[in-house]
Amino acid sequence: MNIQNTDVLVIGAGSVGSMALWQLSKREGLDVVGIEQYGRVHTHGSYVGESRVFRTAVHEGGTYVPMIQRARTLWRELEAESGRNIYAEVGCLSIAPEGFADFTTALGTVRDFDLKHRTLDTEELRREYPQHRIQDGDVGLLDAHGGGLRPEVAVMSALKIAEANGARLFFNTSVIDVEERPNGVMVRTTQGAWLAQRVVVASGSWSSRLSPELDDLLRLQVLGLTWFMPERPELFVPERFPAFLRDVGSVHFFGAPSFDGYAFKACTNPEWPVYRDVADVPKHHTREELIKIGQRAAELFDGINPEPVRESVHHCAYTPDRLPVVDRNDSGRVITIAGLSGHGFKFVPQLGEWAAQLVAGEDTTIDPRFALAAHMERLAVTGPYTGGGH
Ligand SMILES: Cc1cc2nc3c(=O)[nH]c(=O)nc-3n(C[C@H](O)[C@H](O)[C@H](O)COP(=O)(O)OP(=O)(O)OC[C@H]3O[C@@H](n4cnc5c(N)ncnc54)[C@H](O)[C@@H]3O)c2cc1C
Repeated sequence: MNIQNTDVLVIGAGSVGSMALWQLSKREGLDVVGIEQYGRVHTHGSYVGESRVFRTAVHEGGTYVPMIQRARTLWRELEAESGRNIYAEVGCLSIAPEGFADFTTALGTVRDFDLKHRTLDTEELRREYPQHRIQDGDVGLLDAHGGGLRPEVAVMSALKIAEANGARLFFNTSVIDVEERPNGVMVRTTQGAWLAQRVVVASGSWSSRLSPELDDLLRLQVLGLTWFMPERPELFVPERFPAFLRDVGSVHFFGAPSFDGYAFKACTNPEWPVYRDVADVPKHHTREELIKIGQRAAELFDGINPEPVRESVHHCAYTPDRLPVVDRNDSGRVITIAGLSGHGFKFVPQLGEWAAQLVAGEDTTIDPRFALAAHMERLAVTGPYTGGGH
């Protein structure tokens, strides 16, 4: 068997992998290889779907704020290096009934961290955002640095820069297994084998296939996307319609302005079960699901056609408490980043930077709760993620 050598091999050229490749490729004298089972930017990953909500007022509390602030700087660097528009800082508007728990946490976060924001009462929401049908008692929080990220453009840009910096990328090549040896890590692929001094496993929803130690921890949540045509598309353009999160009763909607000029994104998730393997995840909504989502959307947005004009169904690997796994194994050779739990795109450049620092054995600011051992201790108490986490 022909075995090739490299300093660092990144498995998966998706959200985390592309950012790790970008960051690693900046390091002088390091030979960097990326292996991706599909083509360069494809339709199967967790990043697919035109936009991702970026917000600094993260409802999960202050855990993520420093990560997101660093990611914000790195998103701007990626834009500058690539010359592409990736981060549309149009604001992110949370709308919920007064006293709603997630909303209150987000408000606490922006106040504690002194993040630029504005609060809106019911009348202000109605006056300034007529696209939303505002319910009595709704209040708003505009996260000024929030907005929409362009995930496909981001992944493409990071990969292009990595390649221009000398990284070697191999597409339509699947990693079959990873095995530590005394002199490195053997990575067998469908196109031959590599002996790498360091490996970054960034294989998203497929992580458990390559890293059996993640099998008990990770579960796949199905996440659907839907786009609707408004009668007045000019009201839904990024300049007038921020990215949004809406909570009405038990229904959670999220979405983004119209980037294509005719439809905007508004999504809510049916009660899908969790899965263990990507092969089992449904590929589309059912007709009944689309009708129901359309009816709900028409209750929340003014003047929209309730039939989605685009729809797609995706997956993402979740941990029980939705904290990511960011860890290096005992030998220091294998770095694993997984379990981004449906909210991780916004901070992937930070994860890419951490991957490069872990490869180099440098100090990082990684939260100790992201370590695999810490996850497993919590898992023993909570049990695995069971769904409903978006
Ligand atoms: C519908 C949806 C909406 C979301 N909304 C938001 C949002 O608004 N804001 C936010 O911040 N986050 C959001 N997220 C979460 C975020 O998009 C994901 O957490 C993130 O994209 C996961 O990145 P990843 O690198 O782990 O996986 P991916 O981006 O899927 O990358 C994994 C890559 O590894 C490759 N791979 C896997 N196995 C192998 C192998 N054996 N050999 C070679 N290659 C392999 C895959 O093909 C893939 O390219 C959303 C997710 C979904 C699905």
